[in-house]
Amino acid sequence: MEARMDSPPTEGSFEYDVVVMGGALSGAATATLLLRQNPGIRILILEKSAKLSRRVGEATVEVSAYFMGRVLGLTQYLNESHLAKQGLRFWFTNGEVKTLAEASELGPLYQVRVPSYQLDRAAFDEEVLRRAGIAGAEILRPATVIDVQLQPGKEQTVTFRNGDGTRTVRSRWIVDASGVAAILARKQGWWKSNIEHPTAAAWSRWKGVKDWDSRELADKYPSWSRAVYATRNTATNHVIGDGWWSWWIPLKGGDVSVGVVFDQRLVDWPQEGGKLGERLKAFLMKHPVAREILVDAQFDEEDVHWRKNLAYYSTTFAGDGFVLVGDAAAFMDPFYSPGMDWISFTTSRAAALIGAQRRGEAMSALVERHNRDLARSHRCWFEAVYKDKYEYMGEFDLMSTALIFDLCLYYLGVVSRIFRYGENALLVPPFSARGIGPIFRFMRTYNRRFAEIARRRRKRRMLGKTNRAHRCLIPGFKLHSANPKLFAQGFAKWARVELGELFSASMS
Ligand SMILES: Cc1cc2nc3c(=O)[nH]c(=O)nc-3n(C[C@H](O)[C@H](O)[C@H](O)COP(=O)(O)OP(=O)(O)OC[C@H]3O[C@@H](n4cnc5c(N)ncnc54)[C@H](O)[C@@H]3O)c2cc1C
Repeated sequence: MEARMDSPPTEGSFEYDVVVMGGALSGAATATLLLRQNPGIRILILEKSAKLSRRVGEATVEVSAYFMGRVLGLTQYLNESHLAKQGLRFWFTNGEVKTLAEASELGPLYQVRVPSYQLDRAAFDEEVLRRAGIAGAEILRPATVIDVQLQPGKEQTVTFRNGDGTRTVRSRWIVDASGVAAILARKQGWWKSNIEHPTAAAWSRWKGVKDWDSRELADKYPSWSRAVYATRNTATNHVIGDGWWSWWIPLKGGDVSVGVVFDQRLVDWPQEGGKLGERLKAFLMKHPVAREILVDAQFDEEDVHWRKNLAYYSTTFAGDGFVLVGDAAAFMDPFYSPGMDWISFTTSRAAALIGAQRRGEAMSALVERHNRDLARSHRCWFEAVYKDKYEYMGEFDLMSTALIFDLCLYYLGVVSRIFRYGENALLVPPFSARGIGPIFRFMRTYNRRFAEIARRRRKRRMLGKTNRAHRCLIPGFKLHSANPKLFAQGFAKWARVELGELFSASMS
C-alpha cells in the first residue's frame, strides 16, 4: 500500500465524507456499500423527488439479481414484494403470421435455474433508500442539486435547493447517481451521445394485459400452451420486429410495463395518430402477438414516456473526490437489461475507490485504473453485444443463434464468476479483465456477421423467412460449465444460417 504524498484535508474540516446526488437505486446502493465497509462514515443523500415514481429498469438479470439479493441483502423482500422472473422470451413475425400460435418463439423450456426478479422500481428504490437511511445515511428530499464544484484531492462543494432555501455543503467525495441528468458529466463536458447507436423508446404501464398462461389462451391454442413447461407470463416477453423490440414486464399487483425500443435508422416512429400512448398501442397492434395480448389493455395516461437517443457515456468516470455510478456514468441499451448490472459494477467500484482513499492509498493510479476499466468495459460491452444488433434482432434464426452465444458467454464469463468469487467479482466489470480479448473478438465477429446478413436480406426483401412456426426452446443455462451442448447448438445454427445464405445467393 502506498502512502499519500500530499497532505489531505482532515476529516473534520468537511460536513460530510460523501455527498450522493440522487437517491434511487445507484445512489442508495452506493451509500449502503459505503456504510457497510466504512463504519462511522458520514453520508448525505440528496434526492430531488419527495417520492420516487415508477421508472424503467424493471427486469433484473442474473448479476443485478445477485447484487440486490445477496449483496444488498434484499432476497426476502424481493420474494415477498416483487415477482420471480422466468428468463427472456421472444416472439417473431412476418407477413404470414396471423396468430400468437404461429409466431416463432425463442425462450426457456423450463423455469430458470438462477434467480432474477421483475421489479416495481417505485417501491423497490424507496426500500433501498429507506434501508440506506436505517444504516446511517442522512437523506434530504426533496433536494435538488443546482451546482457542484470539484477540487480533486481536496474539498468538493455541492449546492442544492431544499424547500424555499439554498444550501451549500462540503465533502471529501461526491457520488453522482443522478441518472440521465448526469450532473457531473454534463457540467464538466464529459457527456457524449453514442451516435453509433441511435435508439429511442416509448413506454407505459398498462392494465388489462392478457396473462400469457391464461385458460383463455390455453383453450384457444392448446398445443402452443403445452409446448413450454415454464411460466411464460413472468418472463420478460419480447415482441419483436424489424429494427425494434418491445418489453412486456409484469409487475406485482397486476400492472404490466410495456414499451418499444427502436433503431431510428430502421424504424419510422408514427408522428401522427393521437397521443403518444395511442400511437404506442397502434404501433404494437400491428404485430399479431401483441394484438392478441394487448387487445383489451389500457395504458396509464399519467405514465406514458418517450426518450430519444438513449445511448450515451461519460468520458471520465472518477477523479480523486468524485465518482459516477449507474446511468450518471453511461447508458448502453435496455435489450437484455444490462442497466442494473452496470449499476452493480459501478457502485461496487465506487465504494472500493472511496474506501481506498479513506485507508490512505495513493489515488492517482487507482483513479486511472478506474477510468480505464470502466471505459473499456463500456466500449467492449457495446461493441460485442449491441452495435448494429437492431439490424438482425427481428430475424428468428439469427437472433436465436446470437442469444445462445450471448447467454452462454454471459454465464461463463460473468455470472459464474460472481457465484464463484462473490461480491469481489463485481469489482471487475465485464470485458475489463486481462485475457478477455478472444471472447470479445468472437462476440464482435458473430454480432457483425449477423448484422451483415440481415442487411443483405433487407436489401433483397428476404427478411423474416424463419419467423413463422419455429420454436427454439432452451432447456436452461448452467453455472461453472461452458454449457457445451448449447454452444455446439449455437455453432450448428450458425452453420445452417451460412448454408442458407449461400443457397439464396446462388439462387438470386
Ligand atoms: C427504455 C429503457 C428500459 C430499461 N429497462 C431496463 C431493464 O429492464 N433492466 C435494467 O436493468 N435496466 C433497464 N434500463 C436501465 C435502467 O432504467 C437504469 O439503468 C436505472 O434505472 C438507473 O438507475 P439510477 O439510480 O442510476 O438512475 P435513476 O433511476 O434515473 O435515478 C436518478 C435519481 O437522481 C435524482 N436526481 C436527478 N437529478 C437530480 C438533482 N439535480 N438533484 C438531486 N437528485 C437528482 C432523480 O430524481 C432520481 O431519483 C432501461 C432503460 C431504458 C431507457
